[in-house]
Parts: sequence; structure tokens; C-alpha cells
Amino acid sequence: MRLMRYSFTISRVPGKHITTADVLSRAPERMGCDETLGAKIDLYAHQVISGLPATEKRLQEIREQQDKDETLKQIKLYCKNGWPDKLKIPGPCFPYHQHAGDLTVENDLLLKGMCKVIPKRLQKDILTRLHTGHQGIVKSWERAKQSVWWPGLSSQLQQLVADCETCAKVRQQPRETLMPTEFPTWPWELVGADLFEWSNSQYLVAVDYFSRYIEIAKLSSTTSAAAIDHLKSIFTRHGIPTELRSDNGPQFSSEQFQKFASEWGFAHTTSSPRFPQSNGEAERAVRTVKSLLQKEGDPYLSLMAYRATPLANGHSHAELLMGRKLRTTVPILPSCLNPGWTNISKLREREGKEREKQWIWFNNRHRAQDLTGLHPGDQVWITDMKTNGTISGRADTPRSYLVETPKGLLRRDRSHLITLKETKTEPTEQQVPVLPENSSSPVSNQVQQSLLPPCNQTTERRYPTRERDPPRYLKGFDLGRRYSRAPE
Ligand SMILES: [Zn+2]
Repeated sequence: MRLMRYSFTISRVPGKHITTADVLSRAPERMGCDETLGAKIDLYAHQVISGLPATEKRLQEIREQQDKDETLKQIKLYCKNGWPDKLKIPGPCFPYHQHAGDLTVENDLLLKGMCKVIPKRLQKDILTRLHTGHQGIVKSWERAKQSVWWPGLSSQLQQLVADCETCAKVRQQPRETLMPTEFPTWPWELVGADLFEWSNSQYLVAVDYFSRYIEIAKLSSTTSAAAIDHLKSIFTRHGIPTELRSDNGPQFSSEQFQKFASEWGFAHTTSSPRFPQSNGEAERAVRTVKSLLQKEGDPYLSLMAYRATPLANGHSHAELLMGRKLRTTVPILPSCLNPGWTNISKLREREGKEREKQWIWFNNRHRAQDLTGLHPGDQVWITDMKTNGTISGRADTPRSYLVETPKGLLRRDRSHLITLKETKTEPTEQQVPVLPENSSSPVSNQVQQSLLPPCNQTTERRYPTRERDPPRYLKGFDLGRRYSRAPE
């Protein structure tokens, strides 16, 4: 059966001209010509055809369509009469040439191995059938491999699955890599704030990104005014930070708060809605405070002990913020209470190493990877809102995008956005400018990497684009990212 696609030319070579010992000529089988062999082969071929996973009606349809298709008609002739010289093969037939050894005609049906060669007219229909049940790319390919083939099938199938909205909506997003928070230049420069509830009371937490020194205030109410009042009290103690980060809670997103920020002269940055990780330091501070409150004893003493305990970089929160050790219930030499500033370059070095360790640990543990960048015009599915949207541009905060939805313009973190359809033009730029004024969408080509074995020549070269963070060695440096409020 396998040899049927070849036409033989038999020639006799005398034994003396054969340099290596040849089993077939040295040990010939003493058997005459078997007249039934031809019949047996025909029977086998017929069996293969009837064993194809398709009804006779379907096979007939494919056969007819193959004959109507000019290219396949030519390929059939080549199979029967032999292939011409490579250079003489017309363009449309060329992709079939490299599979010439696998192409056969059985019962007037063009096959590649055991697969039916599908004419252009039927390809779209077959593609849709292969993806019935919205199985992933690997399963769909498995189905195809057993029954059909045409040049470019694997890439078309891949594209179909990549573009399938139903599949996209249930696709699991990989975890994003850890976003290294910069180490500020001086204490109380960058401060995070958050609210939390504990035994029916509301608390405000403010944390310094430099020293990770935590300030807590019990709120009399959850209004913006109450939060502002306590922040003012904290700021009078430590000074006004350059930047305050918070979530989108109503206390922070109010007009009153914006007025407070502009009057007191600090930048206010809010995290992407429903993505609290971007307000990480404050979130961590809340967890710390809650665990302190949970423990028995005087919560004030616990908080003081926390502030006085050295961090991984060798200095306590209090030392880093105030330049002196705290006198606690633990006896301490009076000389140790003298103020003394920490060696800042050594601190940066130790801090940098510590952050790098955490960064590697986190990314390994969560198998995190950077998601591809999005571009204006890209169609996305917003996972937490369960709605479609169109990217209108980047938001000011890293990895955040502004998305046009039926409910208005939203800001979302990249991890909440699943790509449905990308706008495709020349792969030129890697990044999108912040909020393009005239949306003339500068876009780049970006498709997932191939999961399939290369089976044709039509696969285009793909250019993946990644969201890039500043290099790790720049961590701890102010890269000039100063944010202002973005719409929600
Ligand atoms: Zn699907």
C-alpha cells in the first residue's frame, strides 16, 4: 500500500557492481509470481477508503469538490503521471510538492497518507467542525490529524482557536510577573494608604515604602473627611509624602480627597480597580496590623515591638524612618539610643539583593510570565466584568489599560483582559504611547507561539511583544514615573 504511490523503473545491476552485501539478492525468496497479490492490494486499498471516518456521501462530496478544484485536479494528475520538475510546478500546486511522497489517489479520491485532501471550498466548513465543542488547539489538531489535510491547516486551525471568543472567555490567564516596587530615595517620600475593618471598627493604615513603618488610626466614620483628617494628623508627624498610593475606595476617589491632595501638594495614585496587588505595600501593612491585633496583650506594645524589630536589611522600621532606635520594654544600652543615620548605599545594596531574591521566588512559584501588550482597537474580554471591550489606550499606571465598554470607559489591569481580536498591522512598535490623541492605532503583530508541528510553508513569522519592566538593576531608582488620577 505504501509503495503504491511510486512508479518503479526496474533495472538489473550485476553483483560485482554492488559494493555492499545486499540481502535481497543474496537470499532470494523462492516464490513464483503471486497472481492474487494485485487483487489483495486493491482490496486493502478499498478497505482503507471504507475505513475513513466519513460517510460514503461525504466522500463523494469531497471527491466531486476535488475535481471541481483546479489545483487538486492538477495534483491528482501529478500523482498519476508523476511530478514535473520543481521549477515547472505552478504556484498554487507548489505547497503540495513537499508532500508529494505522501499524496496518493485511491478510488479517485486524493489522499495524503490516510487523510482526505480537502479542497478550498470545503476548508472553512471542516475547520469549524474540527473545533466543535470548543476543544483546545491540541485536541482539535488531534482530530484533524486523523482525517483531513490541506496545506496551512495547522496554522489556520491555530488562528481559529486563537480568535474563538467562546474559548477566549474561559481561557486561564497566567499570573503576571512580580512588579518590583521602586525603593524610594528618602523616607516618607512614597506612602501607601488603605482602610480595613476590625471588630466592627474601621481603621486607616498608612505605610512608608522606604522604611515600611506603619501608622494606624481608628476612624470615627468611613467618610472621606475622616480619612483626610487622620492623614493630615499623620502627615504633620512625618511630613507630606511626594506621592500617596491607595485603592479606589470612595474615601480616596472623592473630589474632596483630590482637593486635599492638590492643597497639600502630593501626587495621588490609585490602583487599577479590583487589582489590589498594585497597592501592595498598603495591603501587606493591613495584613501585618491585623495579625498584631489578633494576638493577645496590649496592641500598642505589639505595634511598638514590630516597629523596633530589624528587617532583613538589618535596620528596624523606626531606625529607617527616624534615624534612631526606639526604647521599648526590652532593656537597651543608653548609648544605642543616640541618633545615627544608616549607611544608605549599603542599605540600598542589601535591599536590592533582598528584592531580587523575592522577585525570583515569586515568579518561579507562580510560574509567572509577562502578558503580551495590548494596543488601541484590540478587542478584549474583561474577566471580572464579564463583558466585551475595546482597548482605547494605556492608563498611567503600569500594566493598566483604558477599555471602552458598553458601560463606559474603564481602567483595568492587564491580568483582567483576555485578547479576543487583535488589530493587525505591520509589526513595528513594541509599546503604545500613553493615550493616543488621534487613534491611528500604532499596532504590532502578536500571536501566541506555535503549539503545532510545522506542517506547511504558509506559517507567517510571528513577533511576540511583551510588556517590559525596567531592568532589575534600575530597581530602587526613580524612573520618573509620577502618576495622576485616571478615570475608572
Ligand atoms: Zn472555541
